Amino acid sequence: MSGLKNNATPDTDSPADSLLKENLQKVRDRMSQALEAASRTPDSVRLVAISKFHPCSSIASLFRAGQTVFGENYLQEAQKKQDELSGCLGLEWHFTGHLQSKKAKEVLGNFKLIHTLDSLSLGESLNKAWQKNLDNGIMTPPQEVLIQVNTGREPQKSGVMPEDLPALAEKIQQFSAIRITGLMCLPPFTDKPEDSREHFIALRELKERLILSLGCDLPVLSMGMSHDFEIAIAEGATLIRIGTDIFGPRPARAS
Ligand SMILES: *Cc1c(COP(=O)(O)O)cnc(C)c1O
Repeated sequence: MSGLKNNATPDTDSPADSLLKENLQKVRDRMSQALEAASRTPDSVRLVAISKFHPCSSIASLFRAGQTVFGENYLQEAQKKQDELSGCLGLEWHFTGHLQSKKAKEVLGNFKLIHTLDSLSLGESLNKAWQKNLDNGIMTPPQEVLIQVNTGREPQKSGVMPEDLPALAEKIQQFSAIRITGLMCLPPFTDKPEDSREHFIALRELKERLILSLGCDLPVLSMGMSHDFEIAIAEGATLIRIGTDIFGPRPARAS
């Protein structure tokens, strides 16, 4: 199973590799078009490939095709993949799933960005784990996080309610362990991509207001998935999270 570590550059592409590369190129082309239509610069949006349930071989093949940022939703699965793909130097992992406070110490420092901070208790747990490291002489840079906002006010979904965002952000900002760099949302599922637009606008406006109340820069807006990312780009996304349009349909959960 550790073959990937020593096999980062095979000579030929399998049909599966070619398909992934083609999919990636198509998404990149759509990104370029959406950016141009919005008069935005080509480097103003980064693509996060959401690899949950997809095998390491697919991630490695996309990495060879130039995709560097990958998002995982489940900690155990992510840890296994990080281990198996440790030879892919420069691969950047993001955490994009719901996170329980008791898992805080396992994520801390192991992901470049956590998209889903949504409660004070999670912030406290991250801070506690960071302080504990510090007490043990392990000094790590602050963990970069986005605060997830439940723009659709869906009871079954994670994320802070919009009206609770300023107070939560202000408390989280006090923690030395954490650096808030922006906001993330996951709008209600719909088969009409246009329905997402109001959520993207709401998130952007919340971010603008938060910049003023916190008095710090928040450069990141993580919004837009396979079906609605063009609209997200038009509304100011800086990170888009694409699973299906790159990897194809998700297989059943592996573990
Ligand atoms: C699975 C997932 C995605 C990717 O969704 P697709 O519709 O497959 O592009 C994006 N963001 C989050 C938070 C996800 O859980």
